[in-house]
Amino acid sequence: VKKTTSIPIALYGGRNAVTMLPGGGIGPELMVYVKEIFKYSGAPVDFELIEIDPKSDESNDLEYAITSIKRNGVAIKGNIETKSESTIVQSRNVAIRNELDLYVNVLHCHSYPHVKARQSNIDILIIRQNTEGEYAMLEHESVSGVVESMKVVTKSNSERVCRFAFEFARKNNRKKVTTIHKANIMKLSDGLFLETSRTVAKEYPEIEHNDMIIDNCCMQLVSNPHQFDVMIMTNLYGTIVSNVVCGLVGGAGLLSGRNYGDHYAIFEPGTRNTGTAIAGKNIANPIAMINASIDMLDHLGHKQHSRIISEAVRKTVCKDKLHTPDLGGTATSTEVVQRIIDHILQADLRAW
Ligand code: ADP
Ligand code: MG
Repeated sequence: VKKTTSIPIALYGGRNAVTMLPGGGIGPELMVYVKEIFKYSGAPVDFELIEIDPKSDESNDLEYAITSIKRNGVAIKGNIETKSESTIVQSRNVAIRNELDLYVNVLHCHSYPHVKARQSNIDILIIRQNTEGEYAMLEHESVSGVVESMKVVTKSNSERVCRFAFEFARKNNRKKVTTIHKANIMKLSDGLFLETSRTVAKEYPEIEHNDMIIDNCCMQLVSNPHQFDVMIMTNLYGTIVSNVVCGLVGGAGLLSGRNYGDHYAIFEPGTRNTGTAIAGKNIANPIAMINASIDMLDHLGHKQHSRIISEAVRKTVCKDKLHTPDLGGTATSTEVVQRIIDHILQADLRAW
């Protein structure tokens, strides 16, 4: 059954309202940069800023954030820290994705010319199940010293994410989809995901479909990543593979990730790092969050603004080669942002 209900995105006088969740670590400073860039590019977006206190066990902030995203339809987000010592507080990041049923995560991993990286000419789409699997957060100690953790795989969610991947491949003229799994060991759970992907693949005869075991996949990604086109996988494999590929093209500071459900969308840096250790030092790479904001403008239909900003980013990173330390450069975060703004101001707006 195809869902056809679509909830309209909040739009007031031609401007979009968007929820902004800065999160912890470098999140707040990156959001300041996004707001500056939007100001100078004239992007018609008003942010509704919601801060979630990482130390608080109260769920009020979280509920407010979810209500706001439901109202606006769209959010831009940094990572909300979850203290690993705390057993009471569940990850708010996971809770938000579950509550909004953002069942798919899309990470377009592509190389940047003139960014020093372990591999070049990478162009891989990672499509990840975003709400279940090992992230079900169903863990308990059954008897003292024995912990059980549930991995949940459902046919309906597997089908939604596989269909999303094949539709994406078809629309974007991609040639191949690879299902990543460990069905030789987890015969029932990963078996269901693999089987579902094979069933969906039959409806897309023009797209090649194959599958690969997750461990071999990690080795292949490092040694011969160019064999991959679109990849689909369950939640935990998704975060690991995303980090491997981001590491290949230049690290955590470059790429953005998109979270989609049938009704809402959240845009964020691809590897979802908090970056606590580098916060407040003016060294965080602002590009991943700026790319997330570009994705968001695209999603809202503001193609002109997204093009102006992405062209300014391209000039800064690939032509001027102005790089923060994570990319081997010496530029500060604010120098990179200032250069992007300079390019935006120099862009001939009439040419767009
Ligand atoms: P997590 O939130 O998963 O704990 P970290 O915050 O520890 O992840 O980030 C992982 C690594 O990536 C760290 O070395 C961090 O400095 C680096 N990193 C993350 N985001 C950025 C960024 N925007 N710019 C530069 N380095 C980053
Ligand atoms: Mg950390």
